[in-house]
Amino acid sequence: TSYGFREVREGEKQALVNDVFHKVAKRYDIMNDVMSAGLHRAWKDAMIASLNPRKDASYRSLDVAGGTGDIAFRIVEASDRLAHSTVLDINGSMLGVGADRAAKKGLSANLEFVEANAEELPFDSGTFDAYTIAFGIRNVPRIDVALSEAYRVLKRGGRLLVLEFSEVEMPLLDKVYDAWSFKAIPQFGKMITGDAEPYQYLVESIRKFPNQEDFAAMIRTAGFSRVTYTNYTGGIAALHSGWKL
Ligand code: SAM
Repeated sequence: TSYGFREVREGEKQALVNDVFHKVAKRYDIMNDVMSAGLHRAWKDAMIASLNPRKDASYRSLDVAGGTGDIAFRIVEASDRLAHSTVLDINGSMLGVGADRAAKKGLSANLEFVEANAEELPFDSGTFDAYTIAFGIRNVPRIDVALSEAYRVLKRGGRLLVLEFSEVEMPLLDKVYDAWSFKAIPQFGKMITGDAEPYQYLVESIRKFPNQEDFAAMIRTAGFSRVTYTNYTGGIAALHSGWKL
């Protein structure tokens, strides 16, 4: 298969994404550190600080495309291990790694792992206080559908937070970033997993994702209020926030 630099049809996209994450699940956490030079940790910490989860056993959050659990673990820790978080992912391999990590950290009692699609959440409307998704939404074929589902499962007063790669808004940094992502990332991918192509596909998906303003508009269209965003590291990543009021 060659899915480096060609158009991927919508129906095909999910299958490619699934293939990538099945292949990398066991090495995913290491790859994240290498490819973001550790930055993803700081961005995720900032996301949780912005969420500021209630220290309360009734607090329920849903982390979609939660993968190996980084966001859900941080939410539970930030709540002094009181809150409950559901880690939802379409990929059982990623969830398997997440469940193992949760057990090692002694967090299993606060977490639930659910294999499902962001476009079709298996929860009642008005279930969650918070919906988080980190570096996941650009992989979902129909982003508008995922955002409507986010809106549906949140309680009134609930919070949406989306962390995603975005448009670099700093001169020079954009050049460095281009070189890093188009050349270095597929090479690291090849070194660590033996295959560069899945990473080329992921880099492409970052380029195709809407910029900060356009994505904020999509969040408003899904029904969210008080939509704002914050750039991290010159816009390499951005955190979008919205409320279901
Ligand atoms: N949130 C984690 C993090 O920040 O480390 C994992 C992010 S990883 C880059 C993207 C995740 O999105 C993968 O685990 C993948 O399986 C998941 N994913 C892709 N398409 C999805 C979909 N339609 N519904 C739910 N999860 C999906």
